[in-house]
Amino acid sequence: MNRRELLKSATLLAGGGAAAALPIALADPAVAAAAAGARLGKIALEEHFMVPDFLEYFAETYPNISPEIRKFGTTVLEDLGDRRIAIMDEHGIDFVVLSLAGPGVQVEKDVAVAVKKAQAVNDFLAAEVQKRPSRYGGFAHLAMQNPAAAADELERCMRDLGFQGAMINGQTNGEYLDLDKYSVFWERAAALEAPIYIHPANPVDHPAMYEGHSELWGPVCSWAFETATHALRLVYGGVFERYPKARVVLGHMGETLPFSLWRFDSRWLVCNRGTRTLAETPSFYIKRNIAITTSGVCSDFSLRCALEAMGSDSVMFSVDYPFEKTELAAQFIDGAKISDTDRVKVASENAKRILRIGRRVGRLESAPATEKK
Ligand code: MN
Repeated sequence: MNRRELLKSATLLAGGGAAAALPIALADPAVAAAAAGARLGKIALEEHFMVPDFLEYFAETYPNISPEIRKFGTTVLEDLGDRRIAIMDEHGIDFVVLSLAGPGVQVEKDVAVAVKKAQAVNDFLAAEVQKRPSRYGGFAHLAMQNPAAAADELERCMRDLGFQGAMINGQTNGEYLDLDKYSVFWERAAALEAPIYIHPANPVDHPAMYEGHSELWGPVCSWAFETATHALRLVYGGVFERYPKARVVLGHMGETLPFSLWRFDSRWLVCNRGTRTLAETPSFYIKRNIAITTSGVCSDFSLRCALEAMGSDSVMFSVDYPFEKTELAAQFIDGAKISDTDRVKVASENAKRILRIGRRVGRLESAPATEKK
């Protein structure tokens, strides 16, 4: 019986009335569980936590979200224990890569404080990961105010703490990652083949187009365009040309990029590009150097577009816990109208490869991290 038939059977079982007419094997809870997606062994990559020391930074996002969401600051976000694991188990998520909820030290004005606090939260996360190494991984939190220190901290986190990459919450004091000052960072990230997840955050200014529309300031609109533009600065600025092994990850189904690849190429030819040149088309770099996650977008249409546009090796499952519902995200990928081959790639295989989950950089390979506890 293939997966789709299993799913169909499970649906019938859930319907109740038809259950008695089904073969006995289908009533087996293990079969039903497999049909419900547990077998996929999902890996999720945009899963956030919080520590009290960073609540003040987190409060910067309050204007973007409803007061309902704010309570996560002191409850669900801070839990790294049984409650979080239980939700993962319930929805067939074997492994999550944890990241501090933004913007973190990205908005810290004192560079020394930013560097110190980033190291401290990375040490905290490493200790949590060590408690559950088969279930948790980590993204480094980096003080981009000091690019050389950020490169060193990325290396420490990858080599010594066993992290899978880093998450950067947008701009740092108005500066974006394509600037020359970040060459030292990209050189190291490329050498480590460290995936750098660029997560939405606010720009330093508040563009007039959002005036009087608080609903557009944040997850509905501004975060996607802010983050997409950040990624395009890397593409058109030639960062991926200079560092072919640099790897960026974008959440939210690619922050609108997959839908626009053709136009990124076509208008590049006629835009006012000054002295900028690229050896390849913009979409070449987007497809080669950027991978995306499904965090916070549970749409078959968007997923199929992303798979077509980016390639099936570059799309990875994520939830965006606790800001999005794990149940919704899990059910979405379990039942999405895509091939079962693509489903397995999106659910776990691409993440295992791109984030080298279960393997420590510069160390001997450890046991696969996706083993059951
Ligand atoms: Mn997020």
